[in-house]
Amino acid sequence: MSTTTAPQLHPDLQKFLAKKTHQLLIGGQWVDGLSGRTFDTFNPATGEVLGTVAEADSKDVDAAVAAARKALEGPWAKLSPAEREKVLHKAADLLEARAEAFAQLETLDNGKPIREAKNGDLPLAAGLLRYFGGWPTKIHGETTPVSVPYYPGSKFLHYTVREPVGVVGAIIPWNFPLLMAVERLAPALACGNAVILKPAEQTPLAALFLGELLLEAGVPPGVVNVLPGFGPTAGAAIAAHRGIDKVTFTGSTEVGREVVKASSGNMKRVSMELGGKSPNIVFADADLEAAAKGLFMGIFYNQGQCCSAGSRVFIERSKYPDMLAALAERAKTVRQGNGMDPKTHMGPLVSSEQRERVMSFIESGKKQGASLLAGGDAPAGPGYFVKPTVFGDVKDDMRISQEEIFGPVVSVMPFDDVSEVVSRANNTDYGLVAAVWTKDVKKAHLMASALKAGTVWINCYHFVDAAAPWGGVKASGYGREKGQYALENYTSLKSVWVDLN
Ligand code: ADP
Repeated sequence: MSTTTAPQLHPDLQKFLAKKTHQLLIGGQWVDGLSGRTFDTFNPATGEVLGTVAEADSKDVDAAVAAARKALEGPWAKLSPAEREKVLHKAADLLEARAEAFAQLETLDNGKPIREAKNGDLPLAAGLLRYFGGWPTKIHGETTPVSVPYYPGSKFLHYTVREPVGVVGAIIPWNFPLLMAVERLAPALACGNAVILKPAEQTPLAALFLGELLLEAGVPPGVVNVLPGFGPTAGAAIAAHRGIDKVTFTGSTEVGREVVKASSGNMKRVSMELGGKSPNIVFADADLEAAAKGLFMGIFYNQGQCCSAGSRVFIERSKYPDMLAALAERAKTVRQGNGMDPKTHMGPLVSSEQRERVMSFIESGKKQGASLLAGGDAPAGPGYFVKPTVFGDVKDDMRISQEEIFGPVVSVMPFDDVSEVVSRANNTDYGLVAAVWTKDVKKAHLMASALKAGTVWINCYHFVDAAAPWGGVKASGYGREKGQYALENYTSLKSVWVDLN
């Protein structure tokens, strides 16, 4: 564990963290929850309380929906698309200017290494605001050459208009608190919607800090409402609310099912970005050095708390012993510690519950007979650390090979040929991402076609961009976030007929 002292907190962040209670953002105002209840959020590296947060429940969701409706009918709708673009670009400018403060907050609330927050989360979040900031003036309908058989020779004009869906409920997880918030807000706002954002109870602060920034950028009151709270109360109220037109949910497949059920009351639209158990496949003809890095980063980035974690590693048998040993060696020597230390490569898990959950999977791996090559335990001391864990000789039907662990635990298995590895890689309920390492172009593309996943990475891992669509197949969800495809999520298409006869 690293021990170097942490850098000074940015003054903007110090000011934010000095608040006695972090209030809800509703209708442009900072308010207590109507119940008066609060909850604490913790620094996972130390277990200490980082802040106290007002807790939203269904009554606060009602208030936020009313504020969002009012904003939709008032100031937000009156802004021209060009003005909406300016607001989003201003938000991107502000975020870039405050990158240091936001990165530190991500590390303090989530535990991730500051180097990842700075080099990954922050530029990606600003990039999303910039990318979607360009869309408002480019979202348009089409004219359609319609025919009406029962009026021969008649003339009609038909056109489509892309309108905002209305009030969007965004329920997000704790693994990328800022990025997940921006990934939902940027396209939703670009399309002219109002949003009720519920951050995860483990990491509520980034969304609140972002709420301040968005008001400053000129987002009118009520357009973005931030309601920290718990899943079964605030989250469930958003999923079921009849005044909410669409829900975008990112989290576990299990909770995703609940959200789909709850959303059926008013048939609100839903998009789901759910779990994964993604295969990371190395052929013997790959650039093995690059592949070794890709295997390590694929599973251990963000402490393995990525829906896209490469948690099932398949290595062609001739290279299996060496690659497995190299992965285990890397895991044993990784610099793990408080994420605020710039030299830290791996931080703690987000919460003690998450640590317990991950440890129970590790126990199941040991019990079911997988070979433990690295890690396997949680270091003593404060903080929710779990050592990066590598299991070899894992069987396809073991729990660690089938269930999403959402932690730094990888299952490594040998394979013998292409058709075998395709069928084993696809033998999961999930289908978020897959990766293939090979120098054979033909094999790479055949694999990309055969793997059932929303994204396939060839000779790389964890690459994402604001312009590239993101989402899963099977139990990993539906709908695509990012790219122009996200516009489908946040607009509804109106069909207009004009009789020209
Ligand atoms: P994770 O496994 O990443 O913790 P969850 O699916 O448990 O993911 O949580 C993701 C988000 O869903 C969080 O914001 C959480 O509060 C919310 N949530 C949990 N349960 C429910 C529920 N029943 N209805 C709506 N949202 C929920």
